[in-house]
Amino acid sequence: MSMQMQPNGKKSLAEQVWQGAWGLYLGLRATLRTMFERKVTVSYPLQKVNVSPRWHGLLALPIDQETDNDKCIICFQCERVCPDRCIHIEATGKAKDRLLTRFDIEMDKCCYCGLCVEVCPTEAIVFVPHYEASTYNRANLLYDLEDLHRAAPKEPIATGIVKVRKPR
Ligand code: SF4
Ligand code: SF4
Repeated sequence: MSMQMQPNGKKSLAEQVWQGAWGLYLGLRATLRTMFERKVTVSYPLQKVNVSPRWHGLLALPIDQETDNDKCIICFQCERVCPDRCIHIEATGKAKDRLLTRFDIEMDKCCYCGLCVEVCPTEAIVFVPHYEASTYNRANLLYDLEDLHRAAPKEPIATGIVKVRKPR
């Protein structure tokens, strides 16, 4: 449909009406198409999505089912590798009598890089797929040993590289 431009350079009334109607049609067409497409969003928090098994959620320290103890051998590797310096470990005793007395993670500083999980030789520290940790009080984001035990799933979710490490 060709429209004649007015001598003064302005669009004619018919042209303006046509452009308005065409724009309306395009908008409604996009709305209708979207209405019948498969939805990719959910009504959070009423509905929740299942996250990937390798999701980097909160960190946890699972208890070893066989020994009923921490899997942690207090090697301090996770504390050393953490780029944000948010892991704090303390222990007493020596050799086999070594006992974990403090294992704190400041989750407000954590960048979820996963280095602590990857470096752990015993898969003592794992990611869990829990992501609802927001709080108005920053102090709530300091997870101590008890919190980290409580957060642990029965089965480790995102573990380190121990199981996929190839023999040399
Ligand atoms: S995920 Fe990264 S930043 Fe968070 S505690 Fe582990 S090493 Fe530190
Ligand atoms: S790397 Fe693993 S075993 Fe070593 S201190 Fe950290 S959690 Fe414990």
